[in-house]
Amino acid sequence: MAGPPQYKWFFETTTPVEGHMHAIARTIATRQTKFQFMEIFETHSYGKVLVLDGRIQSSEHDEFIYHEILVQPGLLAHPKPVRAMVIGGGEGATVREILRHPSITDCLMVDIDGEVVEECKKHLPEMHKGAFEDPRTRVLHEDARAYLEKTRERFDLIVVDLPEPLEEGPACLLFTTEFYGLIRDRLTDDGVMTMQAGMTKINELFFFGAVNRTLREVFPVVAPYQGFISCFGTPWGFILASKGTDPRAQTAADIDRLISSRMNPDSLGYWNGAAHLHSFNLPKFLTQALDKNTRIITDKHPLIVS
Ligand code: SAM
Repeated sequence: MAGPPQYKWFFETTTPVEGHMHAIARTIATRQTKFQFMEIFETHSYGKVLVLDGRIQSSEHDEFIYHEILVQPGLLAHPKPVRAMVIGGGEGATVREILRHPSITDCLMVDIDGEVVEECKKHLPEMHKGAFEDPRTRVLHEDARAYLEKTRERFDLIVVDLPEPLEEGPACLLFTTEFYGLIRDRLTDDGVMTMQAGMTKINELFFFGAVNRTLREVFPVVAPYQGFISCFGTPWGFILASKGTDPRAQTAADIDRLISSRMNPDSLGYWNGAAHLHSFNLPKFLTQALDKNTRIITDKHPLIVS
């Protein structure tokens, strides 16, 4: 008699004392690149997943949640976004999400790791959906900080879609006041930055709080928000920052109206007016943790997560 199926498992530690696991249907690609260890698996519950240095970046089945919540609030807070930049963004789904807005004429993605991007192009068409071939897309492979230091370009939207700052990882110095100052200076006056900012689960709020506190050193408006990303197994934090635009002044009706006027609302699976209100209205323990956090991340005193 056949026993229960014997699965191979991918196990991810979310903290030193916690983790979650996904049964693997097949391994699609593994590669040690110049910058990180990359794996692409097909999982039983979430379809294809991209894993960098042991951390899930996104999954085929719920990436729409992650990428819509990361990108749409920024674009919908801007009156007419034309030029956008993605910092990181490997899979190409962040660019895809930006290109939904017909007002966008130029979307630059700067991802340090050309090998990861090539593997994503090849194996994850469900995520990029051809965004790399769109004539509005430009892709550069270099350190995004070095790029921002030398460019004079200005953007209406900058989306920071980076992995966490792991020890010796490529994103260590992209969470500091100095880096956020570069972003602020490269935004237009109405320009908006959005970023992923780590988990928002109980007892693990230090990183989210420190990034929020650090951004407040640089931007007059800092609006933290969150959503639940199933394949990460935890609620996840995001932050929108700007020189004046505050998404918290937008009503649910404003958001629904803007979406309908800019795109087919049925093309989105997560973001709408109700999701906007839900995401930007944080529960008490979270606002308390943000208010209490005094850690400012600088080049001299960077924050590394384990
Ligand atoms: N969805 C993600 C998550 O869960 O954190 C992040 C998406 S994306 C795969 C992260 C990308 O950032 C990777 O492809 C990586 O190569 C890129 N990256 C890391 N450090 C970078 C740097 N210094 N400059 C530009 N891109 C960088």
